[in-house]
Parts: sequence; C-alpha cells; structure tokens
Amino acid sequence: MIVLKFGGSSVASATAMSRVLDIVEQAAAKDRVILISSAISGCTDALIQIGKSEDSEQLINALRDRHLAIISRLFTGAERAEAIGDCRTTFSEIRCIPPVIESFGELLSTRILARKLSCEGYKTQWLDSRDLVLTAPGSGSVGGPVDLEASCSAIRAAVDAHPEARVFVAPGFIARDTKGNVTTLGRGGSDYSASIFAAAFDSVDLQIWTDVPGIMTANPKVVPAARTIPEISYRAAFDMARYGAKVLYAPAVEPARLRGIAINIRNTFDPGHPGTVISDRSAGVREWKGVSSVDDALEGTSRICLTGEGPSTGKSVAARRISTALRDAGIKPLGDVETEGGVNWFITVRTNVAKNAVAAIHREFFEERTLSLIDVYVAGNGAVGQALKSIVDGNDGKFPSAGKRLRIVEISSDHGFAEHVLSVARSRSVFVDCTDSEDIWRWFVPLLQAGVNIVCSNRRSLAIPYVEYAAIKNAAAENGCFFRYDTTVGNALPILQSISDGANCGDGVSLIEAVVSCTLNYVITGYDGVRRETFATLLRKAQEEGLTEHDPRTDLGGRDALRKLLILSREAGVPLEEKDVEIVPMLGPEYFEGSVEDFYRKLDENEKLFVQREDELDAIGMRQRFVASLRREDDGCYRAQIRMQLVGIDSPFYWISGTENVTVIHSGDAYPLVIKGSGEGAHLAARGIIRNILQ
Ligand code: ASP
Ligand code: MG
Repeated sequence: MIVLKFGGSSVASATAMSRVLDIVEQAAAKDRVILISSAISGCTDALIQIGKSEDSEQLINALRDRHLAIISRLFTGAERAEAIGDCRTTFSEIRCIPPVIESFGELLSTRILARKLSCEGYKTQWLDSRDLVLTAPGSGSVGGPVDLEASCSAIRAAVDAHPEARVFVAPGFIARDTKGNVTTLGRGGSDYSASIFAAAFDSVDLQIWTDVPGIMTANPKVVPAARTIPEISYRAAFDMARYGAKVLYAPAVEPARLRGIAINIRNTFDPGHPGTVISDRSAGVREWKGVSSVDDALEGTSRICLTGEGPSTGKSVAARRISTALRDAGIKPLGDVETEGGVNWFITVRTNVAKNAVAAIHREFFEERTLSLIDVYVAGNGAVGQALKSIVDGNDGKFPSAGKRLRIVEISSDHGFAEHVLSVARSRSVFVDCTDSEDIWRWFVPLLQAGVNIVCSNRRSLAIPYVEYAAIKNAAAENGCFFRYDTTVGNALPILQSISDGANCGDGVSLIEAVVSCTLNYVITGYDGVRRETFATLLRKAQEEGLTEHDPRTDLGGRDALRKLLILSREAGVPLEEKDVEIVPMLGPEYFEGSVEDFYRKLDENEKLFVQREDELDAIGMRQRFVASLRREDDGCYRAQIRMQLVGIDSPFYWISGTENVTVIHSGDAYPLVIKGSGEGAHLAARGIIRNILQ
C-alpha cells in the first residue's frame, strides 16, 4: 500500500490538484494508493472565522466560490454539474453543525479529488475518516488520544470491503470520538491521519507531500540558505516539529515509529526531489539537524531550538557557540542556553529578533561550506596531540573567524608516520610535529617539497645544525609552504613573532633575556620565599607533573634552555650553534654523576646548603633565576649564555610564579618589550599549534 498525504497548498488550486493527480498516477502504477488530503489552503482558518462570526454569509460565499472555481477548471459537462451540486450540498450543511465546522474543509477537498480520480478512470473509493480514525473524547473540537489499534482495524476493514478499488481517498484531520462526536486531530492534523492510515498496513510506503523539499535545517522562508535534511531519526523529527518546524505535525511521527514505517517528506512542486526520510537509520549519528522556533505571543518572546542527532560531546561547546553566534549578530538572549538531553538546545529571545537569531544560529551550525577545509596529520599522540584533537573535535573542526575548518585525518606516534604522510597527504595539508623525536625533522624538506605545510612544537626539530635549519626554511619558501614553530618557545605566547618583527625592522635585536625553562621556574620559584618543601621534593613533583625530561638533570643542566636559546637567536637572525652557547649548569658537576636516585639523594643531603643560600639572598633582597641570554657586544658579535643570575625587585624576572615564562627583548634605544605569561601545558601548546595552522 502507498499512503500519499497532500497538504493545503498542494491542493490549493486546479493546477495544484493536477500535480497531485500526476503523483497519484505514478504511485497507482505500482500499488494500491490511499490519498489523504488537507483542506485547500486557508480553508480551515476561514471555517473557524465563519464559526465565530455573526454575519457569516459573505465569508461562506467566498469560500464556496474558491471551491467552485477549482471544480469548474477540473471538470466538464455532466461531471462538472454533479460536482457543483455536491459542493453546494456540503456548503448548505455547514451552518447546521457549528462545533465541528472545521471538518468541512477536508470533506470538500477530498470529494473533489475522489471524483476527479474516478473521471480519470481509476477505481476510486472515498473513505469517511470520521468512521475510521477513533479518538477518546477531547476538549473543544480537538479529540483526545487516538486509539491506534481500533483505528487500524477499522481502516483495514474499510479497505478490505473494497477489493476492486485501486485508489482510496480519505479526508485528513477529522475523526470521531468514542461518544460518537465528530472531532479533529488538531491543527495540521492531516499528517497524523496519514501516519495512522499507514500504520494499518504491514507493508506500506508513507509519503507526505508538502510545499518545501522535506524537513530543512531551518524554515526556508526565514533562512534562504536552509537545506534539506536527507535523513533524520523519528526522535529528532518529532523534536523539530514540536519545537516549531511547521513542515510536519509532531504527533504524526509516533504511529509510524511504532510500526517502523519510514516517513518520506516530499515537495509537490518539485516531485523529483528525494526530500527527507524519517526513520531510525540515522539515529545516533552525532550531527546537528536543524533550528526551529516557537513564539510565545503573550510574552512577546520566542524560544529557539537547535536539534541534534545523538547527544553532542562537548556540552559547554554547543552552548558557547549559540551564545557567540547571537552575540556576533548583536542579539541579547533572555536567559541562558538550556539543553534537553544534550540533543535539543534552547535559547529565548524577543520575538522581534527571533528571525535574525534563527539565521545567526543557522549560520554558525549549518553554513559551514564557506569554510575552507584543511587536512591535518598529527605526529605524536601524546598529551599535546590529544589536547589538539579534543580542541578540534570540540569545535566540530570549525574555526569560523579564521574561515577555516580543520580535519584531523590521522594522529599517530608511529615511527614511520612522517614517511606515510609524505605518501598520502595532499598538498596544502598540514603536518604537525608534536613528538619529542630527535630525527623526525629529516622528513621536513621532503614534506615541504610535496607541498605539505609544517607546524612544529618539537624543539628538537629546530635545535639542529644551522645549515639544516636553513635548508628547511628555504624549502618552505621555495615551495610556497609555511613552516611555523611558535610553540617551541613559550607555547602560545607571541615571543618568536615579536623577535622576528623586531629583527626585521631597523635596529635589530640587541639583547634577549629569557626565563623559559618551565621546569626550573617551577622548582626555583616554588622554592624562593616560603620553602615549604625541599628542593628535591619540588623537583620530584615537577617530574611527576610531566614538566621535566625523563632525567630531570637534563633540564637542570640547561639542555632545554639551550634549545630554546638557539631558536630565539636564529629568529633574531643570529645563526647560533650549540657550541656557541656558554652554559653554567645550576648545580655543580658532582650532581651529574650516578643514577637519578643518587642525584635525589645528593639533593636531600645538601638541602641545608640550599636553604642557607636562599636566606642569604633574602637578606639582600635578591632572587636567583636561570636565564638564557643573547647579547650583542660592542664589537657587534653576539654572546650567548645560560646561567644563574641574581635579580633584584626591579627586574622583570623577580616576580615569577609556577610555570610562568618571561622574555625580555631589547632593540634600539627603546624600552624593552617584556612578554610574560603561561608557558607550559599541553592545552596551551595545542592552542598555539592551532593558531599556527589557522594563521
Ligand atoms: N486543514 C487542517 C488545518 O489547517 C489540517 C491540516 O492542514 O493538516 O489545520
Ligand atoms: Mg501541515
């Protein structure tokens, strides 16, 4: 059985009805058909007006003339006369039954359609829905809950009683309650009728024909960029309908869902369009579906609903995106974003800005195609790689203010990953190095030559011999690719950028001083002043928090600071090599012998000495900081050092806490530029990497 339902605009005129007949013709060629129709558009509203009006004659005449005009164009000769007679009879009954006046619209439209189908040669049977769709008593002209079982058996019996019929025609919307009173299924209820009729059959194709191409991501009259949702679950379709999508009457979903019948929403005015299929095929696939809104006329407010399929992962992310979209559109919401199960998201606004708000939310969630897509390959699935992935996922990959969308194609810690990316990546993809590999940089030139951009947060890939470093930079320039590595020093802080800016314009950089080793900061600044814990305990903690290298002495020896200083210097245009840097380790050579445990033991033994040293410094108002510096000497040569320095209260290095980074850049005679901020943590590194990709 094929159940076809047509809405008011699909039967609004003789021309529209002819389209309906074409669609019925195609269906009837395949199977038996039940055609459910609404009243012609505007008819139910007019009938309600008539019911309320004292002097209804004029209104009735106008409505009758609309029907007669359709009849005159559809029929000729004796059939026209009969159809006109039939129509007039129905109209003459209208005034007699005021409480159910609303039911007449569907009686009129379906009688015209049934007659026309008979004339076209189909064995047609008109069915009276008032005997088939059965509800509990309701209130006013709307019936109570539908008795689906009873309705289905009545429908089946009616169909079985006419084995000769190929096409059945039945009015939508109208029903009868158990007290025998004619009633309706509520405004827009014809969809519901269609679903109930379909539920009566085991094998059935249910199509709801309307005037838009299916359920769309928003009302196309409000949002021209709205597009058809090809597939949607019963749940999401139901929610969109009850939260304001006018294309479907929400209760229509349930009978179909109960019987597992897919509902296909189609456009009468574009019958080739596949429209929307409502079923459970797409349920659970996490995806935003659409945005709808319901007005509260009394309050003058509108509640906007964003509906998704399957709960969204980052709850705060959806809420934030909604708020930001509204803020960017200059709309002030009334209250906070609320959610229902993570699948529906609500925000209330004043009705006068509701359309703009719907458009803004639609832009944010559905108009992504204007964002250019960037493929990202991430080498290194450690803390930074994971943080990167969760930020990208949390944004659904979208970074609208940069006009870009990121797609992490692969993330891996495999040794051969760079080589693999070289063989699969399209040009303009981005390769991210967040490993701590010593030799992955050897793939950089080939990657750049293949047109793959590189973003690197791995300092080891930059602290390589200067010629190799220069070769990578050249390969980037020659192939029109970028090679960015801002996160190698100070993560998300704009340190390298400030240095290259300073180096490139005029005076050049005369002095860079940096406290950039987070491990040491953490230990040293944790130690000064209070000294609640021993030096060894603090260092162990730093190690546990992942702030140190495997052997913490690598940090204390200044190894990490050395890499950073190389990167800083080269950025300032100074081709520094490791051997040019003078390092005075924080601790004497005796600490660097033996195992890590020996080392900690030695620290504990000497705790007294550390305390004593700190007390002396306190007395003279100084603190010690492990500073990396690059200084231009009078002869124009540069001198690079990493060593403990004593700093007084007027130094930018005096007040530093935790893993804070401070870099001071002097150029020309101007006051130095001081860059200070959080320098450590996987999340910051990931943010810096994303900025480098989007930049
Ligand atoms: N004609 C009814 C109404 O306008 C039912 C329908 O269109 O579905 O509410
Ligand atoms: Mg409707």
